[in-house]
This record gives sequence, structure tokens and C-alpha cells, in this order.
Amino acid sequence: MELQTLFPTSFGGNLLFLAQNHICKWKNHPRFGSDAKIMGHGCILKHMRPRRYSSKNFGASISCSTGVKEDSFVPPPTQLADAKVIYSVAPAMGHNQESHPESNFRVPAIVSALEKMELTPKFRGSEMIELQNFRPASVDDVASVHARAYLSGLEKAMDQASEQGIIFIDGSGPTYATSTTFQESLIAAGAGISLVDSVVAASRLRRHPPTGFALIRPPGHHAVPKGPMGFCVFGNVAIAARYAQRVHGLKRVFIIDFDVHHGNGTNDAFYDDPDIFFLSTHQDGSYPGTGKIDEVGDGNGEGTTLNLPLPGGSGDIAMRTVFDEVILPCAQRFQPDIILVSAGYDGHVLDPLASLQFTTGTYYMLASNIKQLAKDICGGRCIFFLEGGYNLDSLSYSVGDSFRALLGERSLAFEFDNPAILYEEPSTKVKQAIQRVKHIHSL
Ligand SMILES: [Zn+2]
Repeated sequence: MELQTLFPTSFGGNLLFLAQNHICKWKNHPRFGSDAKIMGHGCILKHMRPRRYSSKNFGASISCSTGVKEDSFVPPPTQLADAKVIYSVAPAMGHNQESHPESNFRVPAIVSALEKMELTPKFRGSEMIELQNFRPASVDDVASVHARAYLSGLEKAMDQASEQGIIFIDGSGPTYATSTTFQESLIAAGAGISLVDSVVAASRLRRHPPTGFALIRPPGHHAVPKGPMGFCVFGNVAIAARYAQRVHGLKRVFIIDFDVHHGNGTNDAFYDDPDIFFLSTHQDGSYPGTGKIDEVGDGNGEGTTLNLPLPGGSGDIAMRTVFDEVILPCAQRFQPDIILVSAGYDGHVLDPLASLQFTTGTYYMLASNIKQLAKDICGGRCIFFLEGGYNLDSLSYSVGDSFRALLGERSLAFEFDNPAILYEEPSTKVKQAIQRVKHIHSL
């Protein structure tokens, strides 16, 4: 097959097909068994069980949505009435490359930590809902953000991936794809938009709906409209933003991206859109090098993109100031109908891919403050989407403590964080960056 026919966009000709025979290794993975069945390009039935926690089913039983009323996957009002947190799990067990940081260990590690920390419905009863049934995103959902040529090219590439085991998309980060990547990426995006359905439905029933959390991969915020990038396949948050507008009439969407890297894909998708505010904090100079402070949007969207690069070494003090002085006033001024969060945990001091100094407590603070912000300005409608985070321990504890924040419980970050490994934050440079972004955006 000609590569140009796979990716006729800017990624055409850049595909390298390498490393054969990786396919289906995950099925026999020593830590996580699976009896996942993948049936053609249609539905996927998944009943994945981690061997260490055999009582737990991973993810959802996913049905074809053909002919099924869209909101039939929304939990009944009796369940939505009590819940504080609603989450979905889509671990993409077939999308994996050995030794790659964005691995299929990530979501299972989080799920295991949630169980250990007693943060699942089994322990919390009606306070928490795990969305057991959801539909994959449709091609039309994804095409609200991405070029159809990219989608058809990726779907076609799945045959190639079946033969080769794994394919690499050169110039994209690099981003890999296996034979299940297309379907599992639709499932990840679907796990996000299904939470939009549930949170919006709950917000019609009560003043303070549960906060959503999509424990999904592959991540999304680097994927640009024309193709994959930086471990990301489909822009999960961007797709959910368009879905919230189109299906639920929520016109104004505020996106907070606190991943350590710039969310360039989301940035590009809405750069000229005045109704979607994209606010990204990231480490200055980190991948992919975009997100400079003067990148503020274009045309009608000028002013509805805010990029705040933070100097390496920035940590908890920096992020608390950023929340109070930048995120809060920005969101209050924009008056959104819903808040979506690109929740990347690679700014943690223990993360191997970057050099910020966020702690588990920083992520607790962000989750707690963002939940309160959503209550104050948009009826509590708020959904977090997992992005990066590559140290499995700091990732899973930080997500766990974020869940505690969303439940309104005290932080247990002190059990995990070790202040002795922190060094002094570059406070002068942080202050300068904050002052500059406040000046540019008249905050
Ligand atoms: Zn990242």
C-alpha cells in the first residue's frame, strides 16, 4: 500500500513501518491477563482483568451504538443523584510498545491505586460511579476536530499494523500504532464524551453534579487536526468540547491543560474560535516547543488562547499562584458553560520526562480548586481527561489524591510526597512570567 494513500495529509510519506511481531504480546502480558476480543473494525467487547485484582473488570462492556438511544449509557437519575465522582476506564491494552513511556501499564496502575486507596464504588457506594457502559466515539465525533483524510488513513493503516505488529509515524513525536490503535482511540474518545453526557444529565437533576474523570489512553492533547503527534492519536478533550457544543448546546467551553507539555493539538483546533478558551501551563522549552506566551489566538479567537510557559523547577508555589492569579480570573471572566481539563501528571517532580516540581499535593490543589471553580461559574459541569504522567507511582497516587479532592476529602499527599527531594523554585522567573501573561491578557 502506498504510504501517501494512508496519510494523504502532511503526514503522508512519513510513515516508517518497523519492528515486526509485536502484535498481541499484551494478551500474554505477565501482569495483566486479557480476554479481549476485537472483531474486525466493528465493536469491541472487553472484559480485561488484572490478575492481581481479579474481582475488577477493566473498562466497560462496549456495545455498538447503532439504533441505541444516545443517552441510554447515562446512569439512571437515582444513581446520578448521589454521586460526587463519575469516571470511565479505557486502558487501550492493545495499544502498546515495549519500553515506551506511554504504555498500557498506565491506566491499570491508576485503577490498582484507586482500589488500594479505597476510592472505587466498591468502597464508596453511591458517592462514586464507574461508567460501565459507554460507546466508542463515532467517526463523525472525531471528524469534528480531525481531518477525515487522517481518520480514513489511520483506519486503513490498521491492516498494515496487523501484518507488521507495530508501525511508527515518523515526525510525530514519535507516535506508534498497533492493529488496535484506531478502535481503542475511538473508545478513549468515547469514554470522554460519555462522561459529558452523564455530567450534563446530572446537572439537569441537581445543582452540584458529579465531576467526571476519564481514565483513558492514548492521550490526546498533542494530536493536531491533520494527524497524530507526541504519543497522542485523537484529541480527546477537543472532541469532547465540540461534542458538548453540538449535542448539549453548551456554547462556551473552558479548557485547562496542566500537563507539563504544551497542548498544541487543542491549541491549534480552537486557535481562532472565540467560544472555546484554551489555557495551557507547561514547562518552558519542553516538547513540542510551541505555546509561547504571545500565542494568544487569532482572528475572532484572539484572546481566547492563553499560554503560560513556566521555567524548569517551577513547583507547588508557582502553580498555586498561577491558579489564583491566572486560571481563576480568566475563567471567571470567560463565563463558560462547562470546564474540561487536560490532566497531565508529568509535571510531578518524580516524572522522568520533564523537570517541574509539582507534588501529589499540587494535583490535589488543582483538582479541588477546579471543582470549586466549576461549581461557582458553570453549574459544576467539569470533566478531567488523563493526558501524560509516566512515573507509575507518582501518576497513580496523584490521580488518587485528585479523586479525594473531587470527593471533598482531605489530601493524603503527605503519605507520598517527600519534601526533602525538592529544591528552591525559580520564584523571580515565575513571577515575571505570571506578570507578563497577566499584562498580555489584561488580568
Ligand atoms: Zn505531557
